[in-house]
Amino acid sequence: MAVENTALFNPIIFARMEQLLQQIEEYKKEIVQAEAPDAEALEAFRIKYLGTKGLVKTLMGEMKNVPNEQKREFGQVMNGFKLLAEEKYEALKSAADDSPLTTDDSLDWSLPGDPLPLGSRHPISLVRNQIVSIFKRLGFAVAEGPEIEDDWHNFGALNLPEDHPARDMQDTFYISQNPAWMLRTHTSNVQIREMEKGKLPIRLIMPGRVYRNETISARAHCFFHQVEGLYVAENVSFADLKQTLYFFVKEMFGQDVKVRFRPSYFPFTEPSAEMDISCLICGGKGCNVCKQTGWVEILGCGMVHPNVLQNCGIDPNKYTGFAFGMGIERITMLKYQVKDLRLFSENDVRFLKQFTAAI
Ligand SMILES: [Zn+2]
Repeated sequence: MAVENTALFNPIIFARMEQLLQQIEEYKKEIVQAEAPDAEALEAFRIKYLGTKGLVKTLMGEMKNVPNEQKREFGQVMNGFKLLAEEKYEALKSAADDSPLTTDDSLDWSLPGDPLPLGSRHPISLVRNQIVSIFKRLGFAVAEGPEIEDDWHNFGALNLPEDHPARDMQDTFYISQNPAWMLRTHTSNVQIREMEKGKLPIRLIMPGRVYRNETISARAHCFFHQVEGLYVAENVSFADLKQTLYFFVKEMFGQDVKVRFRPSYFPFTEPSAEMDISCLICGGKGCNVCKQTGWVEILGCGMVHPNVLQNCGIDPNKYTGFAFGMGIERITMLKYQVKDLRLFSENDVRFLKQFTAAI
């Protein structure tokens, strides 16, 4: 007891202990304020405090010199010290993980990124999709067919006999190896092919590319796109045709647009009509686009000719039908005020990227 008491009150040992605790307090302040801006500084911190020769281990080693009565207190102080160093190390480490991989100050990470160059749908595709979606809501399904066609499906079945002058209405590209074949001049060949299948009623819409031997200009091209529609069932009337097209025009061009039908002639429909809408530019007052008439023609239509039904094996006494066809380019030119048909096929990015926002 006496020896221990002596040790406890030994002023030299007491002073040394005080000094040690003071030193630990200093290190603790250092730890609290420590920063590790990069991986190197983080590793330096670890080595200094937590390494095998670090301060935590070294100061723990002092335990053997601490008087027994103070070992417990010293142990508690050292546990706190070790915990502080470990926690600080973890905090510095996770902060370093969250920061950018480089410390290069010349990069401004707050700058906006380079935009990804976004393409756009072709205006012809935009309008075709819109036309199809309007007719789909009326129950029309999409049908497609071949672009290289025989005479029967492109002309014959459509009530255009061999010597019929109506064939002159459409200048045709024939396949040189076999002139019996041609590039279709309209998508009506799909109508014929669908009617030949004999599944009635038919309610179809037929978008596609067609070809005509025309001089290329702002208003004509050797290829363009059409959408045709066909509805064959019992008791289909011209009133059904008009209401269907009224609905289409209002959906496509807005509720205020006016519509008129003009009598016309097509070999494959009887009666036949052409449909005009009030000019979208001048609202009907007259301008260059409508040639001062206030009206713009957008499509041809009519009741399917009985001969055409018969050619496809459908009884014209039992069934009637209507058909219509429009040029997608024409609708697109009206909708987007495009003045030159050639812009659609020139792939000029300055033209095409104007449709980026359209869907
Ligand atoms: Zn006009």
